[in-house]
Amino acid sequence: MSLLSIKSLGMNFGGFQALNGVNLSLDEGEKHAIIGPNGAGKTTFFNCITRHLRPTEGKVSYRGKELTALKPYQIVKLGIARSFQRINIYPELSVFENVQVALIADRGQMFNMLRPGASLFREDVMRMLDLVHLGNEAGNTAGVMSYGKQKQLELAVALASEPDLLLLDEPTAGMSPQETIDSISLIGQIAESRNLTLLFTEHDMNVVFSIADRLSVLHHGELIATGNPDEIRQDPDVRRIYLGEHADNAA
Ligand code: ADP
Ligand code: MG
Repeated sequence: MSLLSIKSLGMNFGGFQALNGVNLSLDEGEKHAIIGPNGAGKTTFFNCITRHLRPTEGKVSYRGKELTALKPYQIVKLGIARSFQRINIYPELSVFENVQVALIADRGQMFNMLRPGASLFREDVMRMLDLVHLGNEAGNTAGVMSYGKQKQLELAVALASEPDLLLLDEPTAGMSPQETIDSISLIGQIAESRNLTLLFTEHDMNVVFSIADRLSVLHHGELIATGNPDEIRQDPDVRRIYLGEHADNAA
């Protein structure tokens, strides 16, 4: 049985078909990239999986359980976590508090009277921060860190729920080349050491080919190809669409 199974998924926004007939299965441990130009439907696809949007057609199952009736927080409880295309942290809180809040939300201990607030889940928070190389930044205000570090913090927040499946929407968007390299090696290491299944969108092909075992190409809301990196590189439709894009960009 596949970990995540998506069948005939469709999303219609008041007459505009943003996703159409999307089928995809992910095996446990797989690192799968979704590529496609801006507006192809990548973020919509993630939103339909995590129930931030209610798809208009099709179904999504995780470990054989259908997700149709669930809310986003229930999806997290099942072991699916995600990061967003835009930075999604509390900029005024400290780095430590950002992860602590995520752990409190995950473990449902809003009112723990026995332990003072600052030390609640301290070991676990520090373990998450060390994992993303932010242990030394714990006391700093999150919003003043560099963009790359804020994205690392987001990763720690996503990992707080101990997911098996992690969805990353353009994890390196807006990063400098060096931040991109660092961030990708970090994501790769974490995914490997925790046996995470990874579904990510990314526009930088070097990044895609450095982590993905398999990839799918989304074009106008339809998956036009799925395969390993070599198969995708040689796929005539993919080449035509991407070469066409380059021609447009050059004009
Ligand atoms: P990508 O992430 O691949 O850039 P998106 O999933 O953000 O693409 O968007 C796919 C298409 O769906 C775009 O044409 C976008 O304008 C449209 N779209 C996305 N969200 C909405 C929405 N909430 N309402 C209407 N149209 C939307
Ligand atoms: Mg997007």
